[in-house]
Amino acid sequence: MSTFAGEGRAEVTDPARLMSVDRWRELILGDLPALDAIELRIQDTLGLVLAAPVESAESVPSFANSAMDGYAVRVDDVADASVDTPVELTVAGEVRAGAGQLPTVTPGTAVAIMTGAPLPAGAEAVVPVESTSAGERGRIRIHRAARQGDHVRRVGEDVSPGQRLLPAGHRIRPADIGLLAAIGQSRVLVRPAPRVVILSTGDELVPLEKRPEPGRIRDANGPMLGALVRQAGAVPYSAGIVADDLKAMLYAFDSNLGHADLLIATGGVSAGAYDHVQEVIGKLGKVRAEKVAVKPGMPQVYGRIGDTPVFGLPGNPVSAFVSFELFVRPAIRALQGRSDVARPQVRAVLTEDVSAPPHKRTFLRVRLKREAGRWTASPGSAQGSHVLTSLVRADGLADIPEDVTRLAAGDEVTVHLLVDV
Ligand code: AMP
Ligand code: MG
Repeated sequence: MSTFAGEGRAEVTDPARLMSVDRWRELILGDLPALDAIELRIQDTLGLVLAAPVESAESVPSFANSAMDGYAVRVDDVADASVDTPVELTVAGEVRAGAGQLPTVTPGTAVAIMTGAPLPAGAEAVVPVESTSAGERGRIRIHRAARQGDHVRRVGEDVSPGQRLLPAGHRIRPADIGLLAAIGQSRVLVRPAPRVVILSTGDELVPLEKRPEPGRIRDANGPMLGALVRQAGAVPYSAGIVADDLKAMLYAFDSNLGHADLLIATGGVSAGAYDHVQEVIGKLGKVRAEKVAVKPGMPQVYGRIGDTPVFGLPGNPVSAFVSFELFVRPAIRALQGRSDVARPQVRAVLTEDVSAPPHKRTFLRVRLKREAGRWTASPGSAQGSHVLTSLVRADGLADIPEDVTRLAAGDEVTVHLLVDV
């Protein structure tokens, strides 16, 4: 075995050898395959991403109908109506929602009409029932003038034929499904939720159900990444824990690829004597390892085994989490063809002074609050990459650029939200 030794440098990392976060992410995004599109019933598409734009073949509404319960009238007939001087019209019939046979509104008549009922021929407006009163037998008093189209839902007011409703790359939400149903689009072309295999590497790890022996710890990353993957709209598959052993790791990676659209391993990517992830991916496919100018999460590994993108994330839980946000979540979104690969950001004012290392983009875990019309960001005191409680209290990651080493309370920062809006 060769000697476990470094290069005798004063600095742990040589800034000249660091790759920027943006460059690393670009390299990854540029390498991703696209998942095949499938056609699904719209009821089964919540959270999936449209693979083709949706255009409407129909108008919504498809026929003019009433927006109120009331009386369908001709504008001229009610021109002089007011609260104190109502106009009396003969009731020529009634139209309910769903009615197929319609009476006609001729001069001097009105038709009782319910919300959503088709507007009868001759009618120009609807007067709400609240503005009417009972007249002589078979007649209705109208207490309000109406303009052409009042309380009438026009044909195509919501959607017109040929209108582009949803672009490719759009993640489907409940309202979209409502709209698709309204236009009669019962099936759409989507990209499926990627299947993401999660593997925790490390001799020290035990599954959470087991009591750790001395020197060992529970696998926190596996369950946490499972949740992150699910939140990202993908399907997590836990492949459990694998020891820091080349053969065991080769087997674990290889045997899980068959059901993975993407694979995430944590641990074993830094300078330790037993960090084998890069070598394992390299033996099965192609791999690249970089020191990325980021804190936390500097050592990063990415590769492709066949069509499957493979990530090697650092093992410290906060590093794994931040790496997921910076690189894996965008990759999952890109696999699905999503047009927005980044989480939303806000500008916020720091509530405390902060310091950050030179040459690295630092992502501080911050708690956001809305105060006096602006967002404030409070970093907790402990920001170490092993401090899980710093993540638990955070709603965002404050993005401190490489060249900034000090910020004062009151300074503005960009915060990547850990939620979607
Ligand atoms: P590594 O990236 O393998 O050098 O691990 C860095 C640190 O993260 C070490 O303190 C590990 O014990 C810890 N670590 C690695 N994997 C996990 C995990 N799955 N859950 C919790 N901590 C971990
Ligand atoms: Mg390790």
